[in-house]
Amino acid sequence: MPELLPVLSKNDIDSMVTQIAHRISTDYRNHDLILIGVLKGVFVFLSDLVRCLDIPVQIDFIRVFSYGSDVASSGEIHLTKDIEVDIKDKDVLIVEDIVDTGLTLKYLIDYLRTYHPKTIKVCVFIDKHERREADIAIDYSCHDVAKGFLVGYGLDYNEDYRYLSGIYHLKL
Ligand code: 5GP
Repeated sequence: MPELLPVLSKNDIDSMVTQIAHRISTDYRNHDLILIGVLKGVFVFLSDLVRCLDIPVQIDFIRVFSYGSDVASSGEIHLTKDIEVDIKDKDVLIVEDIVDTGLTLKYLIDYLRTYHPKTIKVCVFIDKHERREADIAIDYSCHDVAKGFLVGYGLDYNEDYRYLSGIYHLKL
């Protein structure tokens, strides 16, 4: 049986999201901010985040598929759902559940730049360092971890565990 080791409780997450939302609200006050969530794992974080912001934002989603094993991406990435809002000359914040190698975010930043937004920044719930390959700036992150495969709060393993309200380290 896989083992779930607690990493962050719902209370931990609530205070992290409140803090990051405060920073984002301060930095983007009086800007035309569009949040672009990376499906599917971000759906829980993004819905908490937008309800803690005190500035108006627009929201859209993008989805990519990356080939690889259950727990690691190969870096071969394909777009499976594009954005639908016009981001030209707008401030864009890509919102992602977790960054690992950074290859997905590098692909998305390069792709979204082709729409000529005014700025693009990145907000992740978890910044995982050990396997970073792409040199990307993470502008906002709620929590840093060195390594491990995490589930819960939207993060899955083969579509299981997304519903958990905390973050857990999955030991297979
Ligand atoms: P990267 O391209 O940065 O290696 O990986 C990005 C994607 O890999 C994330 O959006 C997520 O879907 C998946 N991923 C990376 N690390 C983890 C993890 O610890 N747990 C889960 N559930 N997914 C992960």
